[in-house]
Amino acid sequence: MPAALQSFIDVAPDSHFPIQNLPYGVFRPNDGPARPGVAIGDLVLDLRVLEESGSFRALDFGPRPIFGGDSLNAFLALGRPAWRKTREILQHLLAAETPALRDDPLLRERAFHRQAEVTMQLPARVGDYTDFYSSYHHAFNVGTMFRGPENALMPNWKWLPIAYHGRASSIVVSGAEVRRPRGQIKPPDTVAPVFSPTRALDFELETAFFIGSPNELGHPVPIAEAVDHIFGLVLMNDWSARDIQTWEYQPLGPFLAKNFCTSISPWIVTLEALEPFKKPLPAQDPEPLAYLRMPNDFTFDIELAVQLQTAQMSAPQTISETNFQNLYWSISQQLAHHTVGGCNLQPGDLLASGTISGPSEASRGSMLELTWRGANPLQLPSGETRKWLEDGDRLTISGWAEGEGYRVGFGEVTGRIVG
Ligand code: MN
Repeated sequence: MPAALQSFIDVAPDSHFPIQNLPYGVFRPNDGPARPGVAIGDLVLDLRVLEESGSFRALDFGPRPIFGGDSLNAFLALGRPAWRKTREILQHLLAAETPALRDDPLLRERAFHRQAEVTMQLPARVGDYTDFYSSYHHAFNVGTMFRGPENALMPNWKWLPIAYHGRASSIVVSGAEVRRPRGQIKPPDTVAPVFSPTRALDFELETAFFIGSPNELGHPVPIAEAVDHIFGLVLMNDWSARDIQTWEYQPLGPFLAKNFCTSISPWIVTLEALEPFKKPLPAQDPEPLAYLRMPNDFTFDIELAVQLQTAQMSAPQTISETNFQNLYWSISQQLAHHTVGGCNLQPGDLLASGTISGPSEASRGSMLELTWRGANPLQLPSGETRKWLEDGDRLTISGWAEGEGYRVGFGEVTGRIVG
């Protein structure tokens, strides 16, 4: 991909959505039903209008229409050759030197919408959602809090990508309000639990990938083929109620502490767009079992940041900065492990990274770690402090990969807490 690739659409140098990106989402214009689109600069390109106008005639894959519904599931199911071809068509159509769309004012009028004037929806119907636990520093920090540094990691942690099966129905798109959940909490000084709104509401900085091509039940995906099934990535906030979690999580893991709301960013950034930002996966010790090994396994250089703004603050404050490279297990390893027993993945399934924390205090991806379970409250510029999130707080996660003269960004996932 030449960095000099330019669109006839004006795109600011710090925009997350240059022609090198072209992430997919689903939007509702103010004058019609929801449909798939691609972000370019401050605009959305309407894929339904393009399909109706014949722009995808060369796409000879599967049943039509591909972009007729209000989700990307049909497109996700087509697989990588179709995704690649669609990207080629869109990059050509949007290129500065291509007149087809550029010089057709009627088509331009119908095909472009201002992002500020549309409502984003979930990009796909999520059938199943899994959350991994793949950041070494997150697992080490949490383990240290509960068991001390000598026993921080469970003996299995470096042998397999730990995960739990989450709840797909409560996944919401960025911007949705987050209602403080109620549940059972057991204070340390009481014998019986109390029923109360959570007093320890937390965020978790995560990314997640969407499954495209499915695999059949009983047919594990070999690690070398794992990426063929991965369409692209979004940002995710796995809202968590730590006090509910503490009381319920043994012996079967997280349940109500995590199933009340999970927010994702609206634009899916494709693996093709992330290709220039691949980095070799660092060597793992111990060497994983053969089904989790492949030559040239990779990670991505993606910057991630968290901002907090309380109701009293006039501007958001950055409270954490980390990087996707802080994940120990790769997305290929996660997918290969998920299916190794024969579990089938389907288009629209979502597999999340787990909280991404780095080695430094400033790169921790949750309040649990940033405040060390409330022991060191965050000091905010408003003079306020925070052990956990309070009603009225807005939490925003953003992410981007820095190219030469352009950025491939995810936009953001944001949510405000309401009581
Ligand atoms: Mn999580």
